[in-house]
Amino acid sequence: MNNKKLIFKTIDFIRELHKKPSGSIPLHAPVFIGKEREYLNECIDSTFVSSVGKYVDKFEDMICEFTGAKRAIATVNGTSALHIALKISGIKANDEVLTQPLTFIATANAISYTGAHPIFIDVDCDTLGLSPKSLEHWLNENSVYKDGKSFNLKTGNHISTCVPMHTFGFPCRIEEIVSVCSERGINVIEDAAESLGSFVGRKHTGLFGKLGILSFNGNKIVTTGGGGMIITDDNELADLAKHITTTAKVPHLWEYRHDMIGYNYRMPNINAALGCAQMESMCEFLKAKRLIAERYFEYFKHINEIRFIKEPSGTRANYWLNTIILEDKNERDVFLKMTNENKVNTRPIWTLMNQLEMYKNNQCGELTNSNWLEKRILNLPSGVNL
Ligand SMILES: *Cc1c(COP(=O)(O)O)cnc(C)c1O
Repeated sequence: MNNKKLIFKTIDFIRELHKKPSGSIPLHAPVFIGKEREYLNECIDSTFVSSVGKYVDKFEDMICEFTGAKRAIATVNGTSALHIALKISGIKANDEVLTQPLTFIATANAISYTGAHPIFIDVDCDTLGLSPKSLEHWLNENSVYKDGKSFNLKTGNHISTCVPMHTFGFPCRIEEIVSVCSERGINVIEDAAESLGSFVGRKHTGLFGKLGILSFNGNKIVTTGGGGMIITDDNELADLAKHITTTAKVPHLWEYRHDMIGYNYRMPNINAALGCAQMESMCEFLKAKRLIAERYFEYFKHINEIRFIKEPSGTRANYWLNTIILEDKNERDVFLKMTNENKVNTRPIWTLMNQLEMYKNNQCGELTNSNWLEKRILNLPSGVNL
């Protein structure tokens, strides 16, 4: 099919799918159909709008119940959640951390906040997440295992941690990644910022490693305005996470005493109130997103030039952002230009971390898949219409 004709046909399809014959269609807008206003008003009436209040605990309980995590600690955003998860996992300055180059900047930045250095390892083309094969291959070639720890042959530094990310809500091969890492004494901290509602088997993403994190930024599947969450089954780490994100204040009715350098990272009550109302709609959101993904899949099934990404087998994805792969960069860029000029907001994937100024000298594995995908990926409008 002629390229331009195909893109116009796709724009028509997207407008029909999102029931928007004209005007702009955002990539992903938040939806408030529940008790958001009621809970927010309650916060204001009670004056508990800040770091103390019933909604923070309630929101944490709702996330535990939904994900099956034993513990959840709410933070101001996903980046701070990842920063603290890494910090309390035992990471030290100058450690090295294995992660994917195909991720949002927060992953690499949170690693850097701890004084550690990211090393970029390739992703799989079907999951868009860290590839256990590439990881194992890189470790075999570049590390040595000694006294229960892995060390970088080139720098001599401790490779303490691995941070896989579930891209756009598609679960990566997390069980294999955990197995490769546990054989080498490497902690896994999961960046599940995009995958609330995504499961591998019956287990929620973010619960396979030592700790996991979620994000509730405005464009995520559920929003608190800004917000994040650390999830874990480890009670001791959960207690430490709570302590360190609340300025490490020793509990007392009136005294101000702090027993370590803590952070003011606690999620405010007013944000948690929004989160509680949003979580009450979560199952509806997931159902609606699955329907949209099915419609996209049916549409693209008949178009040879475009591949629609489906949830990897054995997993259940939240279909946060629907994703297609075009034939080459040129095709992708024409698609981007024409859709956006017609007010249908599509987006390319992030520039690879190893191509950014701050990370361009970091060590990398072979990045064949990441380089290939970065030129071809396009995200389609994925918001739900309820
Ligand atoms: C959204 C996101 C985060 C956290 O972002 P915040 O905006 O700080 O909540 C972290 N990692 C990834 C991959 C993300 O998409």
